[in-house]
Parts: sequence; structure tokens; C-alpha cells
Amino acid sequence: MITDELPYSELRYRRLFEAARDGILIVDPETRKIVDVNPFLMEFLGYDYGEFIGKELFEIGLLKDEAASQAAFRQLQATGYIRYDDLPLETKDGRRLDVEFVSNLYQDGDQQVIQCNIRDISARKLAKTALRESEERFKLVARAVSDVVWDWNLTTGSLWWNDGFLTTFGFIAGEIAPSVEFWTSRIHPDERSRVAEVIQQSLATAEESWTTEYRFKRKDGSYAFVRDHGYILRDGDGKGVRMVGGMRDLTEQKIMEAQYLRAQRMEGIGTLAGGIAHDLNNVLTPIMMSIELLKADSDNDPARRKILDVINISCRRGAELVRQVLSFARGLDGQRVAIRLWRLIDDLEGIIGGTFPSNIKIVTQVPDELWPITGDPSQLHQVLLNLAVNARDAMPQGGTLTFSASNLMLDAQFAGTSREAKPGPHVLLQVGDTGVGIPPEVRERIFEPFFTTKQPGQGTGLGLATVHTIVKSHGGFLDVESEVGRGTAFKIYLPAGLPRQTADSVLPIPTDLPLGRDELVLVVDDEFSIRLITQQTLEAFGYRVITACNGAEAIALYAKQPEQIAVVLTDMMMPIMDGAATIEVLMHINPSVKIIVASGIASRENLAKATRVDVHDFLAKPYTAPTLLKQIRDVLDRPANIMR
Ligand code: ADP
Ligand code: MG
Repeated sequence: MITDELPYSELRYRRLFEAARDGILIVDPETRKIVDVNPFLMEFLGYDYGEFIGKELFEIGLLKDEAASQAAFRQLQATGYIRYDDLPLETKDGRRLDVEFVSNLYQDGDQQVIQCNIRDISARKLAKTALRESEERFKLVARAVSDVVWDWNLTTGSLWWNDGFLTTFGFIAGEIAPSVEFWTSRIHPDERSRVAEVIQQSLATAEESWTTEYRFKRKDGSYAFVRDHGYILRDGDGKGVRMVGGMRDLTEQKIMEAQYLRAQRMEGIGTLAGGIAHDLNNVLTPIMMSIELLKADSDNDPARRKILDVINISCRRGAELVRQVLSFARGLDGQRVAIRLWRLIDDLEGIIGGTFPSNIKIVTQVPDELWPITGDPSQLHQVLLNLAVNARDAMPQGGTLTFSASNLMLDAQFAGTSREAKPGPHVLLQVGDTGVGIPPEVRERIFEPFFTTKQPGQGTGLGLATVHTIVKSHGGFLDVESEVGRGTAFKIYLPAGLPRQTADSVLPIPTDLPLGRDELVLVVDDEFSIRLITQQTLEAFGYRVITACNGAEAIALYAKQPEQIAVVLTDMMMPIMDGAATIEVLMHINPSVKIIVASGIASRENLAKATRVDVHDFLAKPYTAPTLLKQIRDVLDRPANIMR
């Protein structure tokens, strides 16, 4: 209480005591009882003056109990000072607080006095806990995200990043330590100064954050395309002191986007060109028809005929162009039959072998056991031809043109890397050359319709666009590898599988089935559906097939080409001439003929009939495709003389 009687220094002390924003208690060291309390503490704890005076400290909850109180006072007597950083304290109305408690013993005139200062630290403690929790949360989040998270202290220059940095860019734990220098050194040299400028700029202005994209070098030396996003933390003066941010690898996304855009562009041009081609067709048709009429009129005018021939040739070229444009613009719904690719390649080799310059060497690498594919043979023929012609054009000085094919099982992993690829069995067709190669900027556009680098009249720019459309309509996709000056390889991936109408076309393809090597098989059966399905199956697996619907027809066919027919598959019960009689005649024509008997009536009598003519190989009806294929391969692979 401030009264006028107090001496000046006492008055000043009193003022401080009353105005303090800390709680203050005065305790008598003899009795350990409270003798004075300042207003702040009264208000803080909710007790009034009378409730403090005469109490011991533990009675207002400041020390735990009497024993604690005794210990504290002993220490005070000994050292003159005690301090507790963090004591729990309850207010009168039951609120729990945390306080800092400092106590001093000093001499006041001729008596000793204890002064206790009590400071509320609850808010400080809460903030501390919150900070710790938020830092822990940050660390957890940084660990949980697969993106890169970084934290850059601008004052010290130190940088921290999460493990996402390592995994994203191909490093292993402990291999590199975070540093601004390391980060900078991996930014593509062309983009370093731009990135630095973006950051400097946003630091200099009052920006809260910045975003930029740049190429960032992975451990393996390749560049990832990243988007980096930083938030700036500033001090009271607005100076940037810390930046926290994230980097995301957008490489995959960019590739997909580019693929998508390219496909879109092609579709657009395709639709447009399709429309024009259609109209052009209508323009060309009457011209071509008129030429014929005019020709008939000009029998004895050779000069005029010559002019008409020139017009005719030009018209046909125009019509051919229109046909090509339409063939890639239309969805191309060609035939769907089983295709033996190596025959296709064989055919093509025949054609180009005669027409390509002799300084181009043609090599084919096709394994015997290629999986069958389904498609339109003439379209696929065109694919190979277009690629071959391009290869020729790329090798004006000569070189090697390679056709190769292989079986390939695409897994989900592979399929994931391309927008068009699907997992499953595929046949990979490759057409390679040792020509001039394709520069990267050209590479981007080669599949576009009408894109050509050739002289006018030499290229239409439709070859690869057509290839692309055909391959796509076959459910496949393609890829190109090229090195300028070394050559180019086009890779065509076609899904393997038999046509849907074939009973045994169940995917995945049994890969262990024995395949034909283009041997000719004569299938004899009076039932049409059996002939059809047997023919389709055998053709799908690499055989050529001719059929007969009774014994007489079979004999006639066999007699014409006994050398070519490798094996005869015959039914037993047939009208006109049954199996047994047929076999007899066949063996008469060729004693070492290979025959497989298929019979639905596996009765002893029937068998005896068959064995009378001593047929070794018997196939019980109904049979599955694998049984048929194994049986045929067995018989064909067996030398003729040990057949019987
Ligand atoms: P065109 O052959 O009529 O020019 P294409 O669509 O067949 O049209 O090919 C487009 C372009 O792709 C060609 O002009 C050429 O620049 C490039 N190209 C295609 N195949 C090859 C190859 N094997 N080697 C080098 N460049 C090629
Ligand atoms: Mg071409």
C-alpha cells in the first residue's frame, strides 16, 4: 500500500512492487510465512490479500508439500537463491498454469527477507510445444511425399532436402549432402541464370512465392524436367530469411503430353485430308472417264494420244494419292485373318530384291517359331513396303536393309511407359537401315501426314502416316530409333493372337506349341466346318493348307503334287470314297506318304479298317488345336522310312 509516510526509496520500491507484471511475494525466512503479495499475483491466482498473508508457500500450491518447502528454504539459507524453471501451479478456480519461480534471500536493513518472483510461462510453453509438433509434422510430411521438399536458410546459406530428392534423381542415401552449390550445379547450364533471376526477383520484391520450371541433371547424366516452387519467409523488415519449397519431376507427364498432342494433331490433319481426298476423288473420276472416251476418238492421231497418256498417268498418280490419303484417314477396317509374318517378309523381299538398287543389301532375321498375328495382309504388306522405300531413300549410297521379327511379351511396366502400348504377347517387326538417319527436330514430325524432307515429286509425306494408321488399327504401336549418319530402325509392335472366329484363339498364346514351317497339308473331311476350322488353325500356326471334301477329291489333289504335300490329314467316314480306300490309293501313288487318320468313331472295327492299311498315326475326334499341332509336327519331324 502506498502511503505518504514511506521514505522515498521505499516508495519507489513499493511502486515497482505494485505495478510489476510478475507475481511477487515477500516471505519471512524465520516463519516461512507470506508477509506481502503484489496485486498482479492476487489477480493472477484469484486469491485476495488476506488469503495469502500468513500462509506457507506450499499452502498456496507453489511447492509440493512441507518437505519440499523445507528443502527449498534450506537451499535458500545456504546459497541465497533458488530457481525453478517450470513449476505447475493451480489458480483458485482450478486452472492449471506453468510458472517460473525465482527466490532470493537478502538483507533489508537489520532483517532478512525473501523475495519470490513468479512468472507465467504457460503461453511460452504452449508455443514451444506447438513449434516442436509442427516441426515433427513437417519432417513426417517431407518423408511421406515422394516429391522433393527442401528448406533453405538464406541467412546461413544452409540447405536441407528430404529423401525424395535422392529417389527422384537416382542417388542413394548418404551419397550426397544437401548444398546450394550442388543444386545449382545440376541445373541445365542454359537455364541456371534464368532460375537464379526468378528467385532473386521474387526476393527483391515482396513476393510470397515463386515457381519455375527447368531441366535438372539426374545422377545418370540425363535431365529431368522439374517444376520448382518456393515460399519465402521474411523477417520483420521484409528481408527474406528462409525459403521452403518443393520440386516435382514432370518428365513422364511432359512425354505423355507431347505424345498426346502429336496424336491429336495427326488425327486433325487426317480428318481434314480425308475430306479433301474424298472431294478430289469426285473431281478425278470424270476426268479419267473422259480420257477413255477421248482415246477412242483419237485412234489415228498419235500426238493427241500421247497427250492423253500423259493426262492419264497424272490422273492415276492423283488417284493413287487420294487412295493413300483415304487409307490413313479412314479408320482402315481391313480384313482380320491369321497372318504368317515371315511369309509377308518373304514376299516383300521378292518384290524389292528385283527393284531396289543392287548396292542395297537385304537381310532378314525371322525366327521359325514366330507367334501368329491377326490382321490385314495387304495393309501390313504396305507397312513393310513404305518402310522399305523410306530405307532405300535414306541410303542413296547403298547400305543394308534389315527385316527382323521376334516374339515379345510386354509387361505392365513396359506398357506404362507408352501411351499406346498394352501389356500382352506381341510380335516385334523391325525395319532397319544404315542410311542418313533422322535429326531430332525432323523426328518429331515424320508421322505427320504430308510431312516430307524429299524433293517435290519424290515424296508425298504420306508413307509413315499410313504406317502409323495401319499399325494403330491393328491394335499395335510403333517406335523409331535413329542416329544421324548411322541409320534408322522402325519398330512395329503388333499384338499376337489368332482371329476371333477361330475356336482355339484363347489368349495368352500357348507359346510352346509346335509351329509349321510353311509345309503344305492336305485336309480331307466331308464336313465343311471341320475343314474350315482345321485350315484356320493350321494356317495360323505356320502351315499352308489345301482341302478336299471326299476321298476322290483328295486323290485328285494329291496326284497333282505328291512332292509338295507334306502330310495328309484324313477323316475315315466319308461318302464317295472312304478313308481306308483313300489311304490305299495314296500309298499306291507314294509308298512313303505321311498320313494322319482322324476319326470320330474310335471303334475297334474302324481302327482295324484303318490298320489294315497300316496307318500309324491316329487322331481321335474331337481334338484340340494343341493335339493337332503336336501330332502333325511329330509326324513331319519323323524320317519317312521309320514311319511304319
Ligand atoms: P516421304 O517418304 O514421302 O517423305 P514418309 O512419311 O514416308 O514420307 O516419311 C517422312 C519423312 O521421314 C521423310 O521425308 C524422311 O525425312 C523421314 N524418314 C522416313 N524414314 C526414314 C529413314 N529410314 N531414314 C531417314 N529418314 C526417314
Ligand atoms: Mg515414304
